[in-house]
Amino acid sequence: MKITGTAHVTCPACGREHDVPLVQSINTTDDPDAKQKLLAGDFDVLDCACGKRTQLVAELLYVDPIANLYIQVAPTPEAVSKGEAAFAAAGATGTQRLVPSINALVEKIKITDAGLEDWVLEMVKVLLLASMAEPDLNRVLLFDHSEGDVIHWILLGDDARAMQSPFAAYERLAARTQARPRSTELRIDRVWAIAAVQQMMRGGN
Ligand SMILES: [Zn+2]
Repeated sequence: MKITGTAHVTCPACGREHDVPLVQSINTTDDPDAKQKLLAGDFDVLDCACGKRTQLVAELLYVDPIANLYIQVAPTPEAVSKGEAAFAAAGATGTQRLVPSINALVEKIKITDAGLEDWVLEMVKVLLLASMAEPDLNRVLLFDHSEGDVIHWILLGDDARAMQSPFAAYERLAARTQARPRSTELRIDRVWAIAAVQQMMRGGN
């Protein structure tokens, strides 16, 4: 775990000022505890005495050498460019992803830990959202866990709730290996998945 310095931040609730250490990189082999702290939401957070918790915008590189997984949190266009350049320089090793937030990073880690593929789940999300009574493809739907023949999701928003989908639907999509992203496709997100589903609907690959 590498701490790169501190961010000087003001609590949005009470106005107290804080210096918060920023974690810039985590290697799960060197520091297995760091992964658990990350999953618990303990990094790059302002935990104010007034009780308000605020997630800070931070660039964080997550490396899991066992899973061969490399994920860069890139919250700004500059960070995205920097991340793309860093991955290109590193060459195509394992699974490389760019995500916009620590929440998105945590979801990718949960997916990897469940032994599932993020590109398939992103396509499942689009199909699930499109099948709702009031379809809205912009809604945040997060993978929670997989159990038996059901995948469990959390839908965020005004009517936040748990959702489920059959595991068989995941397997059907996963079998369409022609949809699998190339190793140079770093952003496997909603935009990617909508395009992939549209291509599937058109009967293309
Ligand atoms: Zn406060």
